[in-house]
Amino acid sequence: MADRKPGFDTLALHAGTAPDPATGARITPIYQTTSFVFNDVQHASDLFALRAFGNIYTRIMNPTQGALEGKVTALEGGTASLATASGHAAQLLVFHTIMQPGDEFVAVRQLYGGSINQFSHSFKSFGWHVVWADAEDMGSIEKALSPKTKAIFIESIANPGGRITDIAAVAAIARKAGVPLIVDNTLATPYLCRPLEHGANIVVHSLTKFMGGHGNSMGGVIVDGGNFDWSKSGRYPLLSEPNGSYHGLKLHETFGNIAFAIACRVLGLRDLGPAIAPLNAFLILTGMETLGLRMQRQCDNALKVAQWLKNNPRVSWVNYAGLADDKHHALAQKYCPRGAGAVFTFGLKGGHEAGVKTVSSVKLLSHLANVGDTRSLIIHPASTTHSQLSADQLKLAGAGPDVVRLSIGLENVEDIIADLDQAIS
Ligand SMILES: *Cc1c(COP(=O)(O)O)cnc(C)c1O
Repeated sequence: MADRKPGFDTLALHAGTAPDPATGARITPIYQTTSFVFNDVQHASDLFALRAFGNIYTRIMNPTQGALEGKVTALEGGTASLATASGHAAQLLVFHTIMQPGDEFVAVRQLYGGSINQFSHSFKSFGWHVVWADAEDMGSIEKALSPKTKAIFIESIANPGGRITDIAAVAAIARKAGVPLIVDNTLATPYLCRPLEHGANIVVHSLTKFMGGHGNSMGGVIVDGGNFDWSKSGRYPLLSEPNGSYHGLKLHETFGNIAFAIACRVLGLRDLGPAIAPLNAFLILTGMETLGLRMQRQCDNALKVAQWLKNNPRVSWVNYAGLADDKHHALAQKYCPRGAGAVFTFGLKGGHEAGVKTVSSVKLLSHLANVGDTRSLIIHPASTTHSQLSADQLKLAGAGPDVVRLSIGLENVEDIIADLDQAIS
């Protein structure tokens, strides 16, 4: 065959996971080991000095983790990736690589509640300051920039509101400011949206959600777009300056378009330690083989459920960008043409009380704090995932008192609708 570019489903099955070179095993084994034997002293010293790539110790690198990273890199169209213990660990390592104490970054308020907490509280103790903006107002993002700004952070599809962010517009602002755009692509997955193609520089995921897809393993990943010049401004010293823990090595100069992923691994992961367990990497790899099939069916089901809710007299509004009359429909068609994801919110006319009653009455749907399972899930964010937020933050995050969040699964859609019907009634 000529140089055919493999399609998404082919990559989801084959990228990163060639037969095991040691045994021929077709499925990537779970390399359940902490450490790897060196060939000789020279090999060991080359590995430690980053003169050669290879396995040393599972906190830093492991072949099962490496297979997962290869698959994600191919699906997102990046240059390299780093898998981590969770989505939050991925975010921690990204900012650890970019930020110095006293620095600022701009994030939009339309984010997963856990990220709002991480940014506003825990990051403060590192001296990293978040400045909030509004994803629907590009002017507010520009206004939030200052000479201390080191990055801009958005979600492609925002959790829980299901809103679509205009990635290319934010990327243009980031480019002008000379800072990288980081996109959390958890709810879209690369099947629906590839942020690097729209000008993003770094993509992060919670692999815990749709990527693994079966609700059985925690994981996260950082994808290096290889498209940001870390040395130009001198404002990213971990990448551009001689590194004291590697005998003065300059990471960007040495590793070029994979320098960011390397820095996250050999500085962040090495020293902060949130490595993914090989078993979890294996389970997520298996889940990712069917990513395209699952996402398409879950989006199709979500659209049917959203249409049904829209016509339900007890429902006051439905926020799903897949609906033709939704205010984010045009953005959804631009960034997620195959479907607007499977997580969305709706409001009940009965407010807070009706929301609590509905989540208490479902039988098929699971009432829990996760999204992206094969099963359909339901939650009332104001009393759970977003309960640490103030009333103002709740509203801005799309998690007001009457809001119910759904993550639609792979069941027969008639069964999902029947369960919601009895619960809402
Ligand atoms: C769940 C989630 C995270 C955090 O990921 P964990 O794997 O739970 O640490 C980050 N962003 C989004 C959009 C999420 O849904």
